[in-house]
Amino acid sequence: MIVCKSSREIKFMVRAGKLAAQVQEKIAEIIAPGLKTQEIDDLAEDFIRQNGGVPAFKGYRGFPASVCVSVNQEVVHGIPGPRILKEGDIVSLDVGTLLDGYYGDCARTYGVGEISQSAHQLMEVTRKSLQEGIKMCQPGGYLSDISHAIQSFVEGQGFSVVRDYVGHGIGQAMHEPPQVPNFGPPGRGPVLKEGMTLAIEPMVNAGTHEVRVEEDGWTVVTVDGMLSAHFEDTVAITENGPEILTKP
Ligand code: MG
Repeated sequence: MIVCKSSREIKFMVRAGKLAAQVQEKIAEIIAPGLKTQEIDDLAEDFIRQNGGVPAFKGYRGFPASVCVSVNQEVVHGIPGPRILKEGDIVSLDVGTLLDGYYGDCARTYGVGEISQSAHQLMEVTRKSLQEGIKMCQPGGYLSDISHAIQSFVEGQGFSVVRDYVGHGIGQAMHEPPQVPNFGPPGRGPVLKEGMTLAIEPMVNAGTHEVRVEEDGWTVVTVDGMLSAHFEDTVAITENGPEILTKP
């Protein structure tokens, strides 16, 4: 069942979302060639705990870290560790926070030092596809209007959207119904209502949409080894349309 939140609950979600977005800002400041991905995780965990929150991904189904750090052909669920970022890499960070009983969830992809024009374009298309999806968060619209807006924008730019992983409802649980796919025809699925809170998260590949899971059991990579980018915001549907909750 889809849980619609009261305005009071959405105020709590604004706080959790703000914390997640602030983590992204903090990390963005230090991303540079030579940074160890473990350092990203340490900074994020410290910052979340100092602000009274809990890193929501740590221990989630056994995930061993606070932030998912996915580099280049890694799509999502990369595990931070000894890997050192180098000039020209792109790195996706997915940050989940739990604060006062509510969750926030956001992802961004960053360039490390100077990146190629094609990598930059992939990141921009992914970021804009999220905006296209968010625009469809209107009461009375359909859930799959979001999915369709993302897919048509991405494919119109010559990239592909991942099918195997999707966005989700969010609130007092990290993953609530409904699932929010980044593909599909418009006009389907539940009607969007005021108080629904969704984590919308296009994962966009430069090549084929196909992905597989690495031997660590977590890291999702593109099967063709080409780059992937990931942008996500937590969004509330209000009577006036979308309100992004993961804003610093
Ligand atoms: Mg998510």
